[in-house]
Amino acid sequence: LLELRQVTKQFGATTVLQPTDLQVRRGEVVCVIGPSGSGKSTLLRCVNFIAPPSTGSIVFDGAEYTPPTDHRWVPALGLPEERRLTRLRSEIGMVFQQFNVFPHLTVRENVAIGCRKTCGLGRKEAAERALAELTKVGMAEKVDAYPEQLSGGQKQRVAIARALALDPKLMLFDEATSALDPELVNGILAIMRELAEAGMTMMVVTHEMRFAMEVADRVIFMDRGCIVEEGTPEQFKDPQHERTRTFLRSIN
Ligand code: ATP
Ligand code: MG
Repeated sequence: LLELRQVTKQFGATTVLQPTDLQVRRGEVVCVIGPSGSGKSTLLRCVNFIAPPSTGSIVFDGAEYTPPTDHRWVPALGLPEERRLTRLRSEIGMVFQQFNVFPHLTVRENVAIGCRKTCGLGRKEAAERALAELTKVGMAEKVDAYPEQLSGGQKQRVAIARALALDPKLMLFDEATSALDPELVNGILAIMRELAEAGMTMMVVTHEMRFAMEVADRVIFMDRGCIVEEGTPEQFKDPQHERTRTFLRSIN
């Protein structure tokens, strides 16, 4: 479904993502772990071009995307570049650490607005789709509430429902539970686990090693902008690299 080819990311003179190759198959769950500043968020942000890669290219669902500044850019489907990128982003859902919900919209409107703007649904259809997605994440009773009336866990459910309402082919989670009170973490992890079991393709940046070991098909350890080690959860019980061992010890 997804292939990164020699993707790098620089900010000014600093390279925060070294040339990276990566493939994610349909239905696969890839968990990304690593120390703070190792480039995990940058990797996810390159995948959906929120932060376009500096070099390299990304193949998603059979279409290739290269950085917009690249003069070799050729809109393969005959669409203007920005429209292609907008479509790419609409096919990739993303959930952040800081529940990105619109404070001035109700729960239902938060989810429905994407359906209207991106999927072109009418007001009524969008509201129905929103209710259906919110029901799946246990938020049916809160559709008319505003975000400030919600707990962190509930806001994160809204963010997940909003992403899922666009029927994405890939879901990116960037430390979706890191800002939550401990007692709310498991509820969100349970939703992510169900999503994985339902066959969603997912890239999950997480510090929750138990989740990674139980749910991931593959674990990736990043350090200093590089993928240092990748393997099955089984293989991560006995890591090959000293840096991986040190990191795993430090979080346990
Ligand atoms: P954390 O676990 O703390 O979220 P991370 O692995 O997600 O860390 P990134 O956010 O990808 O790390 O950051 C990798 C490096 O890139 C860091 O050194 C960071 O300072 C740098 N960086 C990230 N975004 C920018 C930016 N917009 N401008 C300059 N440097 C940036
Ligand atoms: Mg991060």
